[in-house]
Amino acid sequence: MNKYIKIAILAAAVAGIAAAIGCAKQESGSKKADSSSKQETEKQEETLPKREYKDPSEYGKVIALTFDDGPSSTTSLVLDKLEEHGAVGTFFLIGDNISDDKADTVKRAVSLGCEIENHSKTHSYMTKMSVEDIKAEIDYTNEKIVALTGRKPEFFRPPYIDVNNEMYEAIDETFICGYGCDDYDAKVEIEERVERTLKQAKDGAIILLHDAEGNVKTVAALEKILTELEAQGYEFVTVGELFHAKGVTPLEYAMYSEVTAQ
Ligand SMILES: [Zn+2]
Repeated sequence: MNKYIKIAILAAAVAGIAAAIGCAKQESGSKKADSSSKQETEKQEETLPKREYKDPSEYGKVIALTFDDGPSSTTSLVLDKLEEHGAVGTFFLIGDNISDDKADTVKRAVSLGCEIENHSKTHSYMTKMSVEDIKAEIDYTNEKIVALTGRKPEFFRPPYIDVNNEMYEAIDETFICGYGCDDYDAKVEIEERVERTLKQAKDGAIILLHDAEGNVKTVAALEKILTELEAQGYEFVTVGELFHAKGVTPLEYAMYSEVTAQ
């Protein structure tokens, strides 16, 4: 058995655990079916300033809040909360959701120190796709993000945390899962979202939330999550910054829900 296959099996096992702890399916309502307007090749308009990281020795207890399935009208509400608390997050965008009317929201996120990463184009089960189609999903969303921010994503969250070897081989970005609270499910109430998130919080954790259209319960939960984590002494960092703070170089054929110092 070669090294890559072994690592891939390990990664698949991690993915299985990750799915069990909160990266499972989500309601289809959060997906935008309409990929409508033909997006012509967009030119990069500007390069927004990149978030500046501190020296790794200057970080204390860190945690990375992440938000999937935007951009949507909910994204602005999430940004309001982050801004009020002087916090940052990482947004994993669905390419088909990146419409012209969301451009300012994405740029605002970057201006607040947030980072923008890749969550595919169509939010489909990608293990059923050809390598070509997998690459097309990633490239489309990368291009949309580069056009808006001038920065190419470094991280990828697989839709439904559905992964296989072909995806690890085809996608040149680090796979991220995280600890979730099923907040894609409208039936999960605000208090439960808060409690489950706080229970999973720890130094180096990646927290998985959703800024899908209409997900206002997560906005309400976020107020309490931010307040409580602040009180517990956490520093909010982006996913890229989390690896930097922990001095960890991401591995290929692996998926991360937390990052701890090597
Ligand atoms: Zn998603």
